[in-house]
Amino acid sequence: MMNIFVSGGAGYVGSHCVRRLVAGGHRVTVYDNLCAGHRESVPEGVAFVCADLADRDQLSKTLGEGFDAVMHFAAFLDVGESVKAPLKYYQNNVSNTIGLLETMRDCDVKRMVFSSTCATYGIPAEVPITEQQNQAPINPYGHTKLAMEWALADCAKAWGLGSCALRYFNAAGAAKDGSIGEDHDPEIHLIPVVLQVALEQRQHVSIFGKDYPTPDGTCVRDYIHVEDLADAHLLAIENIHPGVFDAFNVGTGIGTSVRQLIEAAREVTGHEIPATDAPRRLGDPPTLLADPTKIKSQLGWRPKYTDISAILETAWEWHRKHPTGYTR
Ligand code: UDP
Repeated sequence: MMNIFVSGGAGYVGSHCVRRLVAGGHRVTVYDNLCAGHRESVPEGVAFVCADLADRDQLSKTLGEGFDAVMHFAAFLDVGESVKAPLKYYQNNVSNTIGLLETMRDCDVKRMVFSSTCATYGIPAEVPITEQQNQAPINPYGHTKLAMEWALADCAKAWGLGSCALRYFNAAGAAKDGSIGEDHDPEIHLIPVVLQVALEQRQHVSIFGKDYPTPDGTCVRDYIHVEDLADAHLLAIENIHPGVFDAFNVGTGIGTSVRQLIEAAREVTGHEIPATDAPRRLGDPPTLLADPTKIKSQLGWRPKYTDISAILETAWEWHRKHPTGYTR
């Protein structure tokens, strides 16, 4: 049993991981400022501190209670916004993470699982992407995440931090029981947008670019179910070695194009889901596909969801049960 501090534990990926940690027998404290997270997503019985990472007094007080490990989800994640407001991203994703690392060092907490991203690879030279590929992000969001991977690697050597960066591909789906799921405001991600069309909250979905060098001309992504992502976090935190930084891709290795995804959603929801063509979105690589060999062989991770329809069914269950999200 570990006592685990979870920053951003009320967010989409964080909340699913908190459940997995609790089910795995760990004690969890969620630290979240609720700027994007939802209090209702934190299970009863889990300690909750509503505070900002920039509040160093509160952070020291909480971390000082004695933790074995930190899972760090709290970050901004809108690529487009990061282009327009880079310093907002450096402030939160970099400065606040440095503050968290300093506080960990001061409180002698030497294990961290860090939410990284396939956006650190930029436009990949080859797909599927292995961890050895060159990391050359093409937007501020990716820069902030890569900068923190470097910091983690440097802290491993300097003061023995053991950490693991999980480079998420496209997190998708919801808890199987439909009780927690994705709720961003504004919603920008493809799956929730498509399902909002099925709920008739939007008239259509825009397909951002249909002239990409992919089989059907639309972008290909690797959708990874959020509960499989949670399994990866549990394995990662239980296999961290002091003084070692390691990084793993977390994706299925299976690609789904925007068109294929919309088609699958039509079948799952029984709704026609009108789609219109729109210009490319700035900074979208044509294909992002994980090579998950490393996490499978080193941590024994296996995704339970490899079928996009099965992933969509869980998301659909959540959106149908919670058409306006948590409380709105
Ligand atoms: N996308 C789209 N229409 C939308 C939202 C997204 O065509 O309304 C495309 C987007 O260009 C990308 C893919 O769907 O190729 C997945 O986008 P999302 O924002 O879900 O995740 P990302 O890959 O940016 O992390």
